[in-house]
Amino acid sequence: MVFKPETNESLDGTTHNSDSSQHEVLIVGAGFAGIYLLYKLRNAGFDCKILEAGDDIGGTWCHNTYPGSRTDTRQPYYQLSIPEVYEVSGFSVKYQCEKKTLTVGAVLVQTWTWSEKYPDQAEMLRYFQHVDDMINVKRDVLFGMRVVDARFHNESQKWHVATQKGAVMASKFFIVAAGFASKPLTPTWDGIEQFEGELYHTYQWPSDVHLGRKRVALVGTGATGIQVAQQVAKEAASLTIFQRTPNFCLPMVQQKLDRKTQLQEVGSLQQKLDYRLTTFSGHPESFVDRSALDDTPEEREAFFESLWRTGGFAFWIATYKDILFDREANRFAYDFWVKKTRARIQGRDKQDILAPLDPPHPFGTRRPCLEVDFYEQVSRSHVSLVDINKTPILRIVKEGILTADGTMHGFDVISIATGFDALTGSLLHMGLHTSKGLPLHEKWAGGVSTYFGMTMAGFPNLFFLFSVHGPTASNGPACIELQGNWIAETLLKMRRDGVDSIEPTPEAERSWTKQIHETLEGTMIHETRSWYSGANNPGREREPLLFFGGFPSYQRQIHEALENDFRGFNKTFKHGR
Ligand code: NAP
Repeated sequence: MVFKPETNESLDGTTHNSDSSQHEVLIVGAGFAGIYLLYKLRNAGFDCKILEAGDDIGGTWCHNTYPGSRTDTRQPYYQLSIPEVYEVSGFSVKYQCEKKTLTVGAVLVQTWTWSEKYPDQAEMLRYFQHVDDMINVKRDVLFGMRVVDARFHNESQKWHVATQKGAVMASKFFIVAAGFASKPLTPTWDGIEQFEGELYHTYQWPSDVHLGRKRVALVGTGATGIQVAQQVAKEAASLTIFQRTPNFCLPMVQQKLDRKTQLQEVGSLQQKLDYRLTTFSGHPESFVDRSALDDTPEEREAFFESLWRTGGFAFWIATYKDILFDREANRFAYDFWVKKTRARIQGRDKQDILAPLDPPHPFGTRRPCLEVDFYEQVSRSHVSLVDINKTPILRIVKEGILTADGTMHGFDVISIATGFDALTGSLLHMGLHTSKGLPLHEKWAGGVSTYFGMTMAGFPNLFFLFSVHGPTASNGPACIELQGNWIAETLLKMRRDGVDSIEPTPEAERSWTKQIHETLEGTMIHETRSWYSGANNPGREREPLLFFGGFPSYQRQIHEALENDFRGFNKTFKHGR
């Protein structure tokens, strides 16, 4: 591939491109992260384009169109903190809304409200169209651009980026905002190609699948599988769920949201969105400063009961501070969960599969799923459960699934909810190479290493977010804002200080990776098999992949590095200083 970028330097030192294939910043992905960075960097005067593999904006909400797809973080906390998107002050309306001219007075007007506390996928897509209406995202998105090769050229000091369809582009900065779960994993069952019905991974669910009168199989009971089961049980003739590990689902406590109340509260919205960045997990809930062992059994029961009634993630992250550290405290939580859950399931066999009396792993050490009536739906007679630990899937046959006990389960549709090559998948499948030409998978051959979960040694001016080694197991838009703000501030500081490129030192990378390992190894999360450690992917070694030190610690560390003259980074200067 031969590519010669040509650029014009302006008086202020920024680069303006005479060629549409060259930009200051190329961002991969038009979901929450890509859009937030585009907004921040465009406003700061950077010339940016988003490369999006699909044909619309919305990222994960474009792909996860499976039945029952819905958010698990409550509104108004699951949205972008972009004031132009949710409020318009009368005087600046024309400036802020490039595509829509609104007639408003000199008052604060709210332009978006939510219909439910936990909106479904269709509402999330409408939200993204609204975001586009207000800040004109699509003007700077190039659709159908799946990146397959990206490497930093030392000579030109630019990233050269190639797409599947043969486009080649160059940029000074390259930012991967491709989400943590965009590389689906499908088990390699024998005979899978022989199945004569419909078979879909939930990430590639077509819009025209009709389930009425069909016999449906569901493999996998993670957050996705539970949402699928809850909806498909209402539509299909029969549903058979193949479960490996029970999911400790929590009651969502869904609620319709009133437009008038949201309009009245617009004045405090920014404060709420800012608050997310100060909590441990980016959710508004926080652990209480009390051990589960400090309370009497009656006090504990009453406390758990109040969290249960609150719903959402309260029972997981607004609970006692030692739930994830102390085995006895954890068992109290599990026993409460099991009591509540078994009471909703009809039939001893189903109770034992879905909510066993002894926990398969400590409570809360995987991200729980929120449900509304999952346990009532699976109790119905047309829904059956197969515990694949006892009766493994042997192979797929043309009529359905053959299990090890010799049973042939006949199906019209098999839905695969077996998750993703999470956290590392999108980076590993983008053809990323170090400045010396080493592919990323070779750099990571001995284990994943990053600095702050946003940069890597050997990759000058590469940034990524909501990905590996960051505080990603949190509230998505909040994590994105935390990291997106830092990336934007870094680019601005580089511009101010005349720094041409930055790249973390191997020592800084080693030290961050050590912190990732030590923080997770101090919790019970470490012993549970999940995508938090890549253990869901049969093809990879298990290792801590997430920062679990909480938002405040993360925020402090990344900003200290920036304030201390890019601590941990090697810099090159514009004129060879
Ligand atoms: P996941 O949490 O990795 O769950 C995958 C499921 O498939 C697990 O039950 C797993 O069993 C099972 N599985 C994997 N390989 C299998 C095999 N070979 N045979 C049988 N079963 C197999 O994936 P996910 O459910 O897609 O969720 C991933 C993450 O996406 C969630 O944690 C969440 O952060 C996000 N998500 C969010 C929402 C939302 O509400 N906003 C919805 C969906 C997903 P084991 O548990 O035994 O490994």
